[in-house]
Formats: sequence, C-alpha cells, structure tokens
Amino acid sequence: MYRFCVKGVKVLVGLSVFVLCLCVFSSCGFVGGKQFCWEVHDMNRPHPTIITPGQQAGQAPSHAIVLFDGSDLSQWVSSKDGGPAKWKVENGYIEVVKETGNIRTKQGFSDCHLHIEWATPEKVVGDSQQRGNSGVFLMSNYEVQVLDSYNNRTYADGQAAAIYGQYPPLVNACRGPGQWQSYDIVFRRPIFNKAGKVIRPARITVLHNGVVVQENTEILGSTSHKKRAKYHRHEDKLPIVLQDHGDPVRYRNIWLVELPHGQVGN
Ligand code: MG
Repeated sequence: MYRFCVKGVKVLVGLSVFVLCLCVFSSCGFVGGKQFCWEVHDMNRPHPTIITPGQQAGQAPSHAIVLFDGSDLSQWVSSKDGGPAKWKVENGYIEVVKETGNIRTKQGFSDCHLHIEWATPEKVVGDSQQRGNSGVFLMSNYEVQVLDSYNNRTYADGQAAAIYGQYPPLVNACRGPGQWQSYDIVFRRPIFNKAGKVIRPARITVLHNGVVVQENTEILGSTSHKKRAKYHRHEDKLPIVLQDHGDPVRYRNIWLVELPHGQVGN
C-alpha cells in the first residue's frame, strides 16, 4: 500500500512538472545537437542570421551557394566520368548537349532550397516525353521532371513539375516553348536507420513559376521509368543532377541555400 502511494505521488509530480513545462515554455528544439526550451517572447532565444535577400524575386540571397551565374560550369562535372561537364554555355545559359550525359554538382547537398530556371526549345519537336525533356534530380535520386508540357499530353506523373513516376503537379503552370520558367524546390532528405531502412521519407515542395505545384509531397523512393519507386540507402549528402534526355533544354540562374535540420530557435 505504501509503495503504491509513493508510486502514485511520483506519477502526479511527473504529470505536474509536464503540465508546468507546457504552461511556461512555448516550444522546445535543438540547437547544435542540444535541446533547449524557450518561454513565450524569450529574449534569450537565438535570432536568425541576418542575410540580404535578392533585389528581385528569383535572385540569389547573400547566403546562397551559386551553382551557375551565367558564366561557366565550374561547379559542375559530367556524371559519366566526373570529368568536365560537356554541356554548352552561351548567352548566360547552359544548354544540354545530346549524348554527353547528365551533369552533376561537384558538391553534395541534402536539405535545401534550390532555385533553377529552365526553357524548353522554342522550335517544337516531338511529343509526349520526347518534347523538351530533362530533369532536376535532388540528391541524384529524386527527379522533378522538366518537360515542355504546354499543349503536350503525356502521362500525368511524367509532365513538367511531376515527381517523376509518382505524383503529377497540382496544376499545369507551364509556359510556352522557349520561354524561361522557374522552379523553387524545398527538399528534405530521407532518413535511414542503421539497417538501411527508410524511417522518414524525403519530402518536397515545388513552386513552378511561383505557383505551388508540389506541397510537402512525401517521395516514395528513387524515381525511375516504369518501375515502382523504392528507397535505397545513400549518403547524407549527394549532388544535384541535371538530365540529358537528348533535348537541347536550357538552364540559368541556379542557386541553392542549405537548410538546417531544425530552424534556429525552434
Ligand atoms: Mg526527365
């Protein structure tokens, strides 16, 4: 009976402390691997880093890693052999050169905001998947489709801004062939356990020409053609890949901001 009472008191004390914490602290989070809790309007709560945003929408903020500024492919290599990227650079853009293969960033990335602009050929050739096809692969595995989807019917999960083979975009926000378009992609990497099993799938939000077309979409695994997607354990950071699908698609103004695993002060 005595033991039972002591146990009961302990549970009550524990519950009281928990409720007290809920009342006193507005939120808890991790900074540098340590957990902190902050009161509402806590003056000790860390402040976000001050950055300078771009002058106009789409311009790189001061803390971005610029992957292509219109001048050269120094941040990129050929995916085939790791040698120099063989795509064409002219007039401030990159253009896919057929059969030279995909290109990838030298650096690996995980959680990020990627801004990239693209244009499919002005001269329309082919249809369905054979018209202005390319792609942006996050972590080398997860493709956001690039395609001329202006008056060009194909399977929905393969049109522009689809997570290829998985999810069509919410709307078709495609501009006409030859016009510049933008993707703003917010990506959270998958988390694997020690056994290699995915315990938190990757998530992705995509704005196509400023319109939300993927909203916190849970990716099913590596994207592929006519195969059910599956996760394969991989590194925590991997390059961004741009696809050579044989069409002279152009890219420009590519930059990326790495995102922290938890926001500062959250
Ligand atoms: Mg593609």
